[in-house]
Amino acid sequence: MELDIHSYLWRCSCGGLLDLLGIPTLDNFKPVSGLWSIWRYRKSLPFDTSSNEWETVTLGEGITPLIEEEIGQYLKLDFLMPTLSFKDRGSAVLITKALELGVSRVVADSSGNAGISIAAYCSRAAIDAEVFVPANTSGKKVEQLRSYGAKVHQVTGDRQAANAAAIEYLENNNAYYASHIYNPLFHHGTKTYMYEIWEQLGGKLPDVLVLPVGNGTLLLGAYIGAKELVDSGLASRMPNFIAIQARECAPLASTWQKQTTGIAQGESRCNSTVAEGIAIADPPRANQMIEAVNASRGSFVTVSEAEIISARRLLSRRGIDVEPTAAAAYAGFLSWRKQNPETGSIVVALTGAGLKSAPSNH
Ligand SMILES: *Cc1c(COP(=O)(O)O)cnc(C)c1O
Repeated sequence: MELDIHSYLWRCSCGGLLDLLGIPTLDNFKPVSGLWSIWRYRKSLPFDTSSNEWETVTLGEGITPLIEEEIGQYLKLDFLMPTLSFKDRGSAVLITKALELGVSRVVADSSGNAGISIAAYCSRAAIDAEVFVPANTSGKKVEQLRSYGAKVHQVTGDRQAANAAAIEYLENNNAYYASHIYNPLFHHGTKTYMYEIWEQLGGKLPDVLVLPVGNGTLLLGAYIGAKELVDSGLASRMPNFIAIQARECAPLASTWQKQTTGIAQGESRCNSTVAEGIAIADPPRANQMIEAVNASRGSFVTVSEAEIISARRLLSRRGIDVEPTAAAAYAGFLSWRKQNPETGSIVVALTGAGLKSAPSNH
């Protein structure tokens, strides 16, 4: 089902997933010059031209560095965001829409960076945030949520229990569900990732994009962005998306390998991994993610714990400290490149900062 952008809905009444209608076309698209944030792409975002709530909400998110490590091989440093992860792209857009809709309270559920990002933007927009987290969420993250003024609900049980508690709260209270997974507005924020790379590469998309994948908020956003650029003739072809999962929790990769749809029971069993940000056993948008990777003529790659730890160390020895979830993408890139040495331009996503996790061992 597709959603009108002026709606409060976050899920189809049939229970299914929503996607957006009514995105402005990219005819004669040009970034707004002199505006150094994701809002320079606002003609492609789901807002009327007269809408100016973004000016209240923005923290200057976006325009993160794209550095060339080797010829044709780039790292996109999205951990240099206001709350230190790429999630700020999605939150800025989603919370701006909430402000425009006149929302006074939002609900979010997350065990990590998404909740922190939503909480920061809610405080910016003077919207109350109720964030549901699993009871084992680290004290550091709970403190960060509270520091932004969010009300934290610690739910007994796992990530799914936190989700169920959030939905129960929504049923009994008047609030807007700022879900980074279900609410399609989030993906229209993360799509700016692709617009930015396109502009930084001089009006071209890379041949290959390597990124970590759990719930797919970056993958699906980047896919939407690339598709919009290609469909409007601003880029000639989609990048191949190389989607990275931790071997200890790889339901998408194993479903993709079997060329089936839907994650089979048992497949969704996850062992613990240092890449906690992509340890998602049963992602609601699984089929969309697999379709996006296939449509891009890309693939899934899994990485071991040792590869992740070693990739993190390699990066930090190059002056780049990222959290293990982000290092997983770099590990996946190293492993993929061994099999595919002859490729054109490659961008590797570095999504979250090292400060968010325990330091790497030396
Ligand atoms: C959320 C997150 C991811 C994974 O994003 P998904 O939307 O779950 O695919 C990767 N890296 C970091 C740092 C994150 O915060």
